[in-house]
Amino acid sequence: MNIHEYQAKAVLKDYGVPVSAGVPAFTVDEAVAGAKALPGPLYVVKSQIHAGGRGKGKFKELPADAKGGVRLAKSVEEVAAHAKDMLGNTLVTLQTGASGKVVNRLYIEDGSDIARELYLSILVDRATGKVAFVVSTEGGMDIEAVAHDTPEKIHTFRVDPAAGYQPYVGRNVAYALKLEGAQIKQCVKLVGDLYRAFVEKDMSLLEINPLIVTKDGNLRVLDAKVNFDSNALFRHPEIVALRDETEEDPKEIEASKYDLSYIALDGTIGCMVNGAGLAMATLDIIQLYGESPANFLDVGGGASEEKVTAAFKIITADPQVKGILVNIFGGIMKCDIIARGVLAAVKAVGLQVPLVVRLEGTNVELGKQIIRESGLNVIAADDLDDAAQKIVAAVKG
Ligand code: ADP
Ligand code: MG
Repeated sequence: MNIHEYQAKAVLKDYGVPVSAGVPAFTVDEAVAGAKALPGPLYVVKSQIHAGGRGKGKFKELPADAKGGVRLAKSVEEVAAHAKDMLGNTLVTLQTGASGKVVNRLYIEDGSDIARELYLSILVDRATGKVAFVVSTEGGMDIEAVAHDTPEKIHTFRVDPAAGYQPYVGRNVAYALKLEGAQIKQCVKLVGDLYRAFVEKDMSLLEINPLIVTKDGNLRVLDAKVNFDSNALFRHPEIVALRDETEEDPKEIEASKYDLSYIALDGTIGCMVNGAGLAMATLDIIQLYGESPANFLDVGGGASEEKVTAAFKIITADPQVKGILVNIFGGIMKCDIIARGVLAAVKAVGLQVPLVVRLEGTNVELGKQIIRESGLNVIAADDLDDAAQKIVAAVKG
């Protein structure tokens, strides 16, 4: 799960992390009131969307030379003008995809005098089973480009969670970031505080870009992006409360109500599969035959007819879907249940696109019979290869 920058900063502030003063705003009036509550004379108006690259982003509704989604303002009047430009408009950044994201919230923040922009992120390094700090002196810009062009400017330090955080890691980070004097001590404290926040809140990613050195020589977190491990959310109701459903795909929200593992993708073939491994293989084979999947969906081992119907409805609600492939291996799940679920769903929502069904396993004959006798225009397939070729051919028409 993701949260907004201003929410992430509030979480970090509780751990003693230095962040700027700021006020979230949903309207222009709130933005003005927020600016008035800050010391000034420099303010920053920041679009709150679940994507980075906002500063260099473009608003669809504004002229091409208009400023991006993070803007400096030198007066309350300028704050109001920027807020008007941003609220309700669609911001397109390197991370949003071409469709962009509508800005519904702003964060009005105290402006900082920046001497240097650094990069610091924390993530779970699965290969070593440790928590990794990735840092660079080249902050504020696209870190992927830095990693590609000048990999020697990226440094990684790992903490063994069994041993816990040790101050020498903070000192190593400080040297890698070329910090000096009192900043080294600040950095040791900062890295320790961030580590605690990361572990205690079950984050899977914490990215600070930029971490700045102010002109008066202090460290400050200027941007923060956090991902939480969804499997641990049950023990963080305070984090779940920060969820902004307008930032999520409505299909994924609907799927989560039925406990379906569904992830929207941008292809044309809707997939209903049981088992994550089989679902991945299904996506691969669709790609192999020249089309792309519209979703990942694992209906699970013990899916009920109700769950299958819900899954089918979610798939058909996607206007990009030009064909559907049902690929079920009935082990725990019985093929006749799947067949009934598919038929119930087709009856409920209608079938506007070709449907290929591949069933294998328990009660497979009964399942196939149910589909055959339904009188519906369903294309039967014998194995995965056959199924993928048939749905691709049907979609290509
Ligand atoms: P994004 O990464 O989405 O573009 P950031 O929060 O990193 O958004 O902001 C982009 C840039 O705007 C920063 O690299 C920094 O130069 C500037 N900036 C952001 N917040 C402030 C602030 N409070 N004071 C001064 N400059 C800021
Ligand atoms: Mg940033």
